[in-house]
Amino acid sequence: MIEFRNVTKVYETGIAAVNNTSLFIEKGEFVFIVGSSGCGKSTLIKMIMKEVEPSNGHIYINGIDITKISKRRIPILRRSMGIVFQDFRLLPDKSVYENVAYAMRVIEADPKIIKKQVPNVLSLVGLLDKAEFLPNQLSGGEQQRVAIARAIVNNPSVLIADEPTGNLDPDTAWEIMSLLSDINRRGTTVVVATHAKDIVDRMKKRVISIKNGIIVSDRENSSYVEEHNEGIAQNPNDYSHLSKHNFPWTKRKAGA
Ligand code: ADP
Ligand code: MG
Repeated sequence: MIEFRNVTKVYETGIAAVNNTSLFIEKGEFVFIVGSSGCGKSTLIKMIMKEVEPSNGHIYINGIDITKISKRRIPILRRSMGIVFQDFRLLPDKSVYENVAYAMRVIEADPKIIKKQVPNVLSLVGLLDKAEFLPNQLSGGEQQRVAIARAIVNNPSVLIADEPTGNLDPDTAWEIMSLLSDINRRGTTVVVATHAKDIVDRMKKRVISIKNGIIVSDRENSSYVEEHNEGIAQNPNDYSHLSKHNFPWTKRKAGA
């Protein structure tokens, strides 16, 4: 459902934030994108949302090459995605309920459906009893739960989170990641950029590790790969650190 084919992003400064990267994320997967600050995680995520354009290569979302779609169709693309950021980005003078409902109003959802759906997702994130609170009356973890409720209220096919626990204490961070995992179990594809090593190690999900804009490992049921374990520099013809996901075209059989 998300495919990068030889994607490169060179910023105006000359920095290659993402360098000739290919990856494939299937519908229903939970994927961590890890790596130290500046390795290119946010750039990768912004390209999925079409907030940043790649300098080279192609990105397919649900089979559509989004590097080729017109500006007019970007809102439709973004509607298929829920996004969560490190700094929550809630509307400060709107209630929890209104923050979530707003995401449905902008797509002109039927008010009757809004009235049903908002309490549904608030209950899913455990905040139904705080629906009338303002963001500044909530803890950081609760604010992030509101942001997650808002991100999933329109039933996106993929939920993308960029450092969603970066501003939270370890226990709260774990709760938020567990919530993302619950949402994934209900069928939503989830992609999380993070450097929360302890949580990644505990969750045993697919982990894509990036260094200097290059995928240096991609493993199922994995933990955070430490830099000294990375194998890319040692033998340029050794691809054992990469999984089949980096070569999606090799696994696709005719008719598959
Ligand atoms: P991460 O999210 O892993 O910290 P980023 O994708 O934000 O990494 O950044 C990757 C590299 O690209 C860094 O060297 C960063 O300084 C650079 N970069 C990010 N955004 C921009 C930009 N808008 N203009 C120029 N350079 C950028
Ligand atoms: Mg980042």
